[in-house]
Amino acid sequence: MAAAVEHELRGPRRRLVETLQQEGIRDLAVLQAIDATPRHLFVPTGVRHRAYEDSALPIGSGQTISQPSIHARYLELLKLTGKEKVLEIGTGSGYQTALLSQLAAQVFSIERIPALLDKAREIIQQIGARNISFLLGDGTLGWRQYAPYDAILVGAGAPEVPSTYQEQLAEGGRILIPLGDREEQTLFMLTRRGDTLEKTEIAPVRFVPLLGKYSWQG
Ligand code: SAH
Repeated sequence: MAAAVEHELRGPRRRLVETLQQEGIRDLAVLQAIDATPRHLFVPTGVRHRAYEDSALPIGSGQTISQPSIHARYLELLKLTGKEKVLEIGTGSGYQTALLSQLAAQVFSIERIPALLDKAREIIQQIGARNISFLLGDGTLGWRQYAPYDAILVGAGAPEVPSTYQEQLAEGGRILIPLGDREEQTLFMLTRRGDTLEKTEIAPVRFVPLLGKYSWQG
């Protein structure tokens, strides 16, 4: 990451990391990635002063950047070692994409809203992460070309797991996905064991809806 941006707002970022530690986040690689990633660049200027609070913030186009503790929790659950190929559905601000790029070998990220993807791409380029590929389109289709993935992170809520994700997941790979209705969901982690997905319930969550062919329609 470019040294200049890494030093901006270092103090508030440190305090956020301490808050996350107090909330029970233990994974040092995850905490280190949060410490090194300028979240203030990923939020609109109007809410920039709140970038290091542990809150979700609006990012435009009716979407939100999740709370840092949610990102931390998500990433901790995946237990990434740095060797993985990861698929992210719903780039949004690109903040989680930037975190993933420090925790995995390769990140593939899909977003359906062009304005969000353009902005995310611009900031990622600015901070200098190189192991990320972006795709504009319907993330419920997955990204067959680079499958299988060791992890698939879905940043929006779906009624059920799109069948494409199981097909594009490596043996032992994990899917993190909020499942439920359009307003409220439960976060699930699904692990591929042969032809079945072992399902673990994590926590109640509220995400924007996943819109696409294998999820909510429009
Ligand atoms: N992790 C992101 C979350 C953004 S909100 C962040 O913290 O910034 C979820 C995103 O999923 C939104 O940007 C929304 O446009 C996107 N999304 C919803 N349905 C999608 C689909 N089918 N394919 C790709 N992106 C989708």
